[in-house]
Amino acid sequence: MKCPVCQQEMSVWKVDTSHNSKTGKQYDRMLYHCAQDDTWAKTEIPKSSKTIPNVVAAQ
Ligand SMILES: [Zn+2]
Repeated sequence: MKCPVCQQEMSVWKVDTSHNSKTGKQYDRMLYHCAQDDTWAKTEIPKSSKTIPNVVAAQ
């Protein structure tokens, strides 16, 4: 995951599993942090899928 601000590789802050109660799907959720400019980003990847991570939040 590249930082949207400085374009450098962000470090993984936290990894856990999220669950969508509507679809019953489970996701590998990863939270990234760039210490340099205090930027956060989150990806949620369906466990059964190899699709490209979908960035759901970044600021
Ligand atoms: Zn950054």
